[in-house]
Amino acid sequence: MLPAFFCTLATIINLGRYILHATVKLVAIMDISTLSKRFYNDPELCSIFDFTALVSYVEIISLLKPKLSTILPSNQLGPPPTLPVNIHTFLRYCFSMSDDMGKLAWERLGSYAWINSFQDVEEEHATMQKHARWFLQHGTKPTCQVGIYNLEPPTRVCLDPRCGSPLHSNKHILRNRDLVEPMTHPITVFTRNLGAVPAFATSRYCRSSLFLKLCD
Ligand SMILES: [Zn+2]
Repeated sequence: MLPAFFCTLATIINLGRYILHATVKLVAIMDISTLSKRFYNDPELCSIFDFTALVSYVEIISLLKPKLSTILPSNQLGPPPTLPVNIHTFLRYCFSMSDDMGKLAWERLGSYAWINSFQDVEEEHATMQKHARWFLQHGTKPTCQVGIYNLEPPTRVCLDPRCGSPLHSNKHILRNRDLVEPMTHPITVFTRNLGAVPAFATSRYCRSSLFLKLCD
């Protein structure tokens, strides 16, 4: 029992350090003056977001950032102007928000959440553990289909140089063709920290004329 006790104690201490670090970090990345003005201009946000909920919103967006990045064109840096319906719905479930409140939250807080990034893998794993219950409870719902792990192709563009198209501004430079038509399937990911967890894997295609000719 003794090793288990110390293991639990160590976990609690690490979690405490993590929460303190996350809070200090959040205050650091946010321009509090600007943020407070947004809450002042849209006071209905206060009905959803106390400080703890705001921290959680930023952290969950940080976990979903790789997934959200895949919906953007490869030459566009985030955040997306609006959330995909499934992720919007997932966040609505997590924070008990109405449709309008979910949209307002992203409009007002999305850019703040987007600039947050994990300092290291340990911080990312701790955040996963903290919010895993939301992904387990809501992520697998048919209207959400978002996991704490969302596997995507390692590239957002076709790597075949023959599929590139010349830039309008400089026809000598080719722009890689974006992969399209995402197909998402439920999978199970076996992890050391969380055990077996439901997740999703997405494949994408290159639909260039070269590809279509090859398929004829
Ligand atoms: Zn291609």
